[in-house]
Amino acid sequence: MELNEKLEILTDAAKYDVSCSSSGSSRRNKGGLGNGHISGICHSWSEDGRCISLLKILYTNHCIYDCEYCINRRSHDTPRAAFTPREVAELTVNFYKRNYIEGLFLSSGVLRNPDYTMEQLIEVARLLREEYRFNGYIHMKAIPGCSEALTYRLGHLIDRMSVNIELPTRRSLALLAPDKKYSDILRPMSQVSRALVATADAKKTLKHTPKFVPAGQTTQMIIGAGGEDDRDILNRAESLYKDYALKRVYYSAFVPVVKSPYTAGIAKAPLLREHRIYQGDWLLRFYGFSAQELLNERTPNFNLALDPKANWAVEHVENFPIEVNRATYEELMRVPGFGRTYARRIIQARKFAALTYDGLEALKISTKRAKHFITVNGVYRGSRFTSKAELKTIMGALDPMGREQLSFF
Ligand code: SF4
Repeated sequence: MELNEKLEILTDAAKYDVSCSSSGSSRRNKGGLGNGHISGICHSWSEDGRCISLLKILYTNHCIYDCEYCINRRSHDTPRAAFTPREVAELTVNFYKRNYIEGLFLSSGVLRNPDYTMEQLIEVARLLREEYRFNGYIHMKAIPGCSEALTYRLGHLIDRMSVNIELPTRRSLALLAPDKKYSDILRPMSQVSRALVATADAKKTLKHTPKFVPAGQTTQMIIGAGGEDDRDILNRAESLYKDYALKRVYYSAFVPVVKSPYTAGIAKAPLLREHRIYQGDWLLRFYGFSAQELLNERTPNFNLALDPKANWAVEHVENFPIEVNRATYEELMRVPGFGRTYARRIIQARKFAALTYDGLEALKISTKRAKHFITVNGVYRGSRFTSKAELKTIMGALDPMGREQLSFF
């Protein structure tokens, strides 16, 4: 098979992995400059926060497993291809030299068995680092079920590693990916997190400690394939952040790309649901919320009409309004419309004088959403609502996402 043909099959097969976010463009070249269609190029963020373009491909879309939701599943009739390690390394270097990309994002179906597949991925990374002296960014998937030594070896060659958990509960994994075991997915995650801690410790005494996945580890979860509610997903994400020190959990709304008896009745998950889960995830990581505060048995799913923080504030409106001149940083972070930048600006500015609404305006702090939850120097400028439902309507009108469904790809 020609290399171009392999590239076409294996970039298309990689597009459902959302750890890189900008693939899936449908814009073809109609005589002008560039072609966003079968480029296989996506973007990600490096350790220092730079946006980088990556060659995003699968090593192979052959797979011994038969996950119900996956386009590459064993029983799906689709064109198959596999690169050799040298082909991937040369493609990466050639694309890099032409300035198309700054790095590689490589995932794979499971060829023969997990260890064999990992060995192929390691060989790609080894060729790039040792033969081609490639110092660009490399993100690869670890194959669940592979041996510890291989995970460790790969971790020393690449910048970021992911093990896709795919489904948030053991029940949904057993139903939709019966060949996979939760323990096979969590084991490499645990190895990576332990190795990250050990590397950080070693660095304190040994300056030249070899790098181990310096951009951390990530995972991906599919939303809506196994009938889970948002609470299952957020609880799982919270435990992954706490127990395995994950850098990011990516979420992907389920798309029924392949027919199967289990997925036939499951509709495509609304992208707005995915968006709300991302907002909830953000609240866990940066705003000091716990999953339990945001979702519970009574309310297991996010309100699609209102962002999770505003929804939480309305549900706890009895704790508001808070006075911005006295509130702690943590309290300010819970005010809808306020984030880290505003909270820091407020705390810094009020050291010198009590803040007023004019003072907030001078600090370029918008109170459009926050005004219903704060007083400023004793002054309340929010609405005189009579019920939580009324306040939800007011806040919903200010939520740009509450009114429209996003398009997929
Ligand atoms: S192991 Fe990965 S590639 Fe193979 S069927 Fe499952 S999700 Fe698809």
